[in-house]
Amino acid sequence: MKKLGLIGGMSWESSAEYYRIINQTVHEKLGRPHSCECIMYSFDFGVIDKLQHEGKWNELSALLVDAALNLERSGAEFLLLCTNTMHILADDIEKKIAVPLLHIADAIGKEILKNKMKKVGLLGTKFTMEKEFYKERLRRLFGIEIIIPVPEERERIHSVIYNELINGIISNESRNEFITIINNLRTGGAEGVILGCTEIPLIVHQDDCRIQLFDSTRIHSVAAVELALTRDYS
Ligand code: GLU
Repeated sequence: MKKLGLIGGMSWESSAEYYRIINQTVHEKLGRPHSCECIMYSFDFGVIDKLQHEGKWNELSALLVDAALNLERSGAEFLLLCTNTMHILADDIEKKIAVPLLHIADAIGKEILKNKMKKVGLLGTKFTMEKEFYKERLRRLFGIEIIIPVPEERERIHSVIYNELINGIISNESRNEFITIINNLRTGGAEGVILGCTEIPLIVHQDDCRIQLFDSTRIHSVAAVELALTRDYS
């Protein structure tokens, strides 16, 4: 098993899910009592949140690169950035490290193609939904067309993520709003919907919806275990 390096704490609520799913998946694949050999660098999300909303992406880049180098020096054989949003800086990290970074959008793109879908909705932070880095990668590498919610819905999703989900607050009212937004994407032609924020699977589950959901936390975690158990992945 390759040793995983997790860049986490964005937020810790979803990093805890990564840790749980990764270990459960290793159990399933190797049997008990196996578990995953991994190292996590966990940020104070208060610092990250502030810099994001001030648009200080260069400072964020320096922090993430530093964490990545730390993990590499500690023996991580490949890295996982446990957030969709911060993949806006994935290229900066990749340029500075020698080990591979398993990109979250690639894991999701492969899963969408496995399901033979071409047009999917995307829920995430406003950074993920509105900036190009994520949608462009899915379009360019996988030929997937992305549709996003209308501006008021995007605003609401962003606010629930930063004010509720990252603080462990799960409310039925917000869940119902997410379900309505997912239904609107379906009506707008989406064949499936990406839960493209690693906290959203804490509030919306497949059973709540009639459309197929792509849970970024689970898909990324399972892909990481598969990579960790692959003998040669150059
Ligand atoms: N975990 C979130 C994501 O997947 C949002 C927090 C962050 O901005 O990193 O995008």
